Amino acid sequence: MKKIGIIICDRYNSCAGGKCFRSMHNREGAFSIYKNEDIEIAAYTTCGGCPGGNIEYTIDEMKKNGVTHVHFATGMIVGYPPCPYITYFHDFIEKNWNVTVIYGTHPIPEKYLDNHRHLKSWQDPVWQNILKLVMSDQQTRINYN
Ligand code: SF4
Repeated sequence: MKKIGIIICDRYNSCAGGKCFRSMHNREGAFSIYKNEDIEIAAYTTCGGCPGGNIEYTIDEMKKNGVTHVHFATGMIVGYPPCPYITYFHDFIEKNWNVTVIYGTHPIPEKYLDNHRHLKSWQDPVWQNILKLVMSDQQTRINYN
């Protein structure tokens, strides 16, 4: 059983995680990498608010509960603006803790994709790697609107 921790953007700190848990159950978006595996969401927290003070402390607690895979929630990718610290957090966590950090949880909702294409939010090539697991197909994205 793989144990997963999810970190969400604090702008959505009242989010109940509906889309994340649904996509985990359906193995959609970034959870598609666990297609044939048993997984458990063992931790769910926020970054603590810009510039992400909780990132420094939360992984220790997650690891005590056996977390080996940390997902940055899709809200960090699709927020307005997308989190400007997302790659920094990724590299910081992987350097300091023996966990795998994965960009995204649920598929990008289609309406967010429309806006970000218009806003040119993801022009930098670094975003292609960040987006690759959560882009999904159009019908799936519409299902997450
Ligand atoms: S934009 Fe980034 S640092 Fe700011 S609250 Fe969201 S996840 Fe945290």
